Amino acid sequence: MLEKEIGVRTYHDLLRHYPNSYVDRSKVYHIADFEGEMPHVQIRGRFVSLTVHGEGAKTRLVGLFTDGTRALEIVWFKNIKSLRLAYHPGAEYVVFGKPVLFNNRWTMTHPEIDSAGSLLSEAGMRGVYPLTEKLRKRNISSRTIFTWVCSILDSCGQIPETLPRSITEGAGLMSLHDTLHNIHRPKDPESLNKARFRLKFEELFQIQVDMLRQSRLRKLALQGLRFSNIGHYFNTFYNTCLPFPLTGAQKKVIKEIRSDMNTGRQMNRLVQGDVGSGKTIVALMSMLIAVDNNTQACLMAPTEILATQHFESLSKLVGPVGINIALLTGSTPRKRRQEIHSQLIDGSMHILVGTHAVIEDTVQFARLGLVVIDEQHRFGVAQRGKLWNKNLGNDGNRAHALPPHVLVMTATPIPRTLAMTVYGDLDVSVIDELPPGRKPIATLLRYDDQRLATYRSVYKQLSEGRQAYIVYPLVKENEKLDLRSLQYGYDHIREMFPSFNVAYVHGQMKPDEKDHQMQLFASHKADILVATTVIEVGVNVPNATVMIIENAERFGLSQMHQLRGRVGRGGNQSYCILMTKRNIGADTRKRLEIMTSTTDGFVIAEADMRMRGPGDIEGTMQSGIPFNLRAANLATDGEIINLARQWAEHLLDSDPQLILPANSAFARELAIVRAETATDWSRIS
Ligand code: ADP
Ligand code: MG
Repeated sequence: MLEKEIGVRTYHDLLRHYPNSYVDRSKVYHIADFEGEMPHVQIRGRFVSLTVHGEGAKTRLVGLFTDGTRALEIVWFKNIKSLRLAYHPGAEYVVFGKPVLFNNRWTMTHPEIDSAGSLLSEAGMRGVYPLTEKLRKRNISSRTIFTWVCSILDSCGQIPETLPRSITEGAGLMSLHDTLHNIHRPKDPESLNKARFRLKFEELFQIQVDMLRQSRLRKLALQGLRFSNIGHYFNTFYNTCLPFPLTGAQKKVIKEIRSDMNTGRQMNRLVQGDVGSGKTIVALMSMLIAVDNNTQACLMAPTEILATQHFESLSKLVGPVGINIALLTGSTPRKRRQEIHSQLIDGSMHILVGTHAVIEDTVQFARLGLVVIDEQHRFGVAQRGKLWNKNLGNDGNRAHALPPHVLVMTATPIPRTLAMTVYGDLDVSVIDELPPGRKPIATLLRYDDQRLATYRSVYKQLSEGRQAYIVYPLVKENEKLDLRSLQYGYDHIREMFPSFNVAYVHGQMKPDEKDHQMQLFASHKADILVATTVIEVGVNVPNATVMIIENAERFGLSQMHQLRGRVGRGGNQSYCILMTKRNIGADTRKRLEIMTSTTDGFVIAEADMRMRGPGDIEGTMQSGIPFNLRAANLATDGEIINLARQWAEHLLDSDPQLILPANSAFARELAIVRAETATDWSRIS
């Protein structure tokens, strides 16, 4: 009967429905000591009075209750008549509930109340359960749930262990039996901690075993091309064309990619590197290795502009080496397109750069050896898969061709521990160093009433020949309103900067028009670009030195970080100005101050994840990981994730398929949990 309310169907489910806080029934609080955000507490005292207030729907019963240190109001909105008769002024009661400060007076609504005599029987800690509105309506209280849980715990005997003994003993975990007892009615705080740890570990361990098992199977199954040559193209480029020395981080990652492509198995690697960390050159040098090994490479970008920019900068870089490189997008003319198609098939085209256009069925390669996907969160997993069928193979039979290596590049920094979970099936490389000599972008918080002064400083930059972005938020639920605010912003900016040219882009524009407007800005025919977040990815206009983010409080931190990466790409000092209202909440202010205090994408991503929860971090939603974990928190349990990962490796090393008898209970449990999360997930997405 609890299925709809809290997803509980069986006794087992009920034991796995964990409390979200605890009360210590051995402790009695004093009202005079209440302070700040209070947990559920127990107090002991007497009613001074019980009076009915208000009328109709607003009727409520208010009891003035004192424990001798101070008075507190107890308020009921329901069952008023019977409650009025149930409690007697003067008699001693034990009251249990969550005090909140209301109009400067401590108040409890619908607390649990016992006559003082029953206190002893309930001594000790016990769980307080999350209640939904539906449960409340049916008068099912946290205490009712606790009573049910206790009767199950008291009658179910020894609860069988679900983790392999090698793991519980190795990692020093509390047994499942003790854990479930202690999570509902802890013996003491220390046992509660151990129980919590075990539950978090178990949950994360299951995910890690699942992920690792899949990725190991895939690696076994997928034979890949072996790139053992570092030859002419790579070496010539490295020795004569490289425009700057590589950073240590770039070298490290190129090395990782090199050895990964030389194992005889297919590479599936994610390269994470903050905006401006120099991922393009890493991609290029990886592609040169592919060419050196007599195969072709392909780089996909999410937008036409970005693809074009990649093509232009890559052509310049590899021109002297004699690489045949082409751009293929939706607007490539038919004739050129046919030329490209045939050069891909006869193998004379070395590198293809493009948009989605490259995954169309008509595009086929003689020997595709490496696919680089830039900014992967815009590409679905299914699309990634499509690329694996592009090879004609030596005998012209696609089925006989080996799949290309895959390199995914993203500037969306995902905290390591989360990446380990989300991209468990990909190997991860991190470019954790920026090229030397970058001037950090100065980020400033400004309020609406400082707008004119802000515009004056923008004016100064524009007069010196620089360019500026002005970004408006986009809230999907109300596109009309967003467009209106963008339109308003555009008119306003034109009015404020009459002597400069203003371009204008948003997501609902036709691609042609969008490209045209972007091009105006990129070629400096426009000085100012008024935009929504469509400019987030990729655009490279080194001459742009100012970005104003309007209504900054409405953006996520990681998103603002991406936006900010559009400036600071040239030699000039750049600025990012976060505009907001004076009266923002303390949390919002804290968020914005993170932006002004650091430019480290990983620090920002960690903070974003702590504040908004991992499910909101861009790029994670499509991963299929259930983020409604019951016990663990991906944002704060990084160490436990690491530990779980290590033990998962350990387990699979000794029993890759989980078929040993010692692991059979765990394998069964894992199958059940996976079946459950699968349904969970379909409901969410
Ligand atoms: P992202 O990682 O954001 O894709 P890019 O590859 O576009 O970064 O590189 C950003 C800029 O930094 C480019 O102008 C590039 O030429 C330059 N760059 C990359 N690596 C280095 C380096 N090792 N030293 C100096 N400049 C570099
Ligand atoms: Mg890039």
